[in-house]
Amino acid sequence: MGDWNGKTVIITGASSGIGEATAAKFAGEGANVVLAARREDRLNELKDQLGSQPGELAIKTTDVTVQQDVEDLVQFTIDTYGQVDLLLNNAGIMPLSFMKNKHVDEWEKMVDINIKGVLFGVGAVLPHMLERNTGHIMTTSSIAGHEVMPSGAVYCGTKFAARVIMEGLGKEIAGSNIRTTTISPGVVDTELTETITDEDVLEMLKKRFGQFEALQSVDIAEAIYYAANQPLNVDVNEVIVRPNNQE
Ligand code: NDP
Repeated sequence: MGDWNGKTVIITGASSGIGEATAAKFAGEGANVVLAARREDRLNELKDQLGSQPGELAIKTTDVTVQQDVEDLVQFTIDTYGQVDLLLNNAGIMPLSFMKNKHVDEWEKMVDINIKGVLFGVGAVLPHMLERNTGHIMTTSSIAGHEVMPSGAVYCGTKFAARVIMEGLGKEIAGSNIRTTTISPGVVDTELTETITDEDVLEMLKKRFGQFEALQSVDIAEAIYYAANQPLNVDVNEVIVRPNNQE
């Protein structure tokens, strides 16, 4: 077991799903956890729920598409806890659609949240980590960052980008003590599909329903913890976790 007492973790997209479960995991291991997302009510609920955990919790309402919000998130964390040991860029949306249906607004949102949000996170925390010559940056990509599915041209594009950005970052900072990890889950039972509005996609997904048992968020939280909790000389660059039977 690692010693997370006195260490600080920032999680974006902490108001539900994978982010929420990961916050619970790290708070349970004694870390200070800064919960970031747009829905302040959900962050407050989570903070109350986790009140009895050994780690301390703080919330910072953040829209990852707004660079200043992300800079403020990191600065708030440094001011409150003195350091950032782990940033998990996890905020994301998945409004799958067929390109012929031209959900242009959703294309833009996915690029802004799933790609630019990651860049803003890296940009905000990197100077601090380089100065300390330690830290860990993780990003939640997906199996969709390896394989393209019908209706996923844009979503998969953003998840390929997130994975490549992390790989590029890892190469750039090789030789430092900063580590980088891409987390690539298969299907996890969360609120993620609620952003889908394309009727053709909803119809397609209904037909696929029940082919395998989806993962739970806690399964991914455990994978994230595994990668974060290695000795400092061990850099887990990617973790791929899919439900058994998911193609
Ligand atoms: P959820 O929908 O439960 O969580 C998404 C989180 O992202 C929410 O906390 C949401 O909070 C946050 N978010 C969305 N937009 C913004 C924004 N502009 N600024 C800040 N936070 C934002 O889904 P998951 O937990 O499943 O998703 C987490 C990550 O995992 C995503 O990147 C997703 O792509 C990835 N993933 C998920 C898989 C799955 O099957 N569920 C599979 C592979 C990868 P709020 O609305 O309060 O801002």
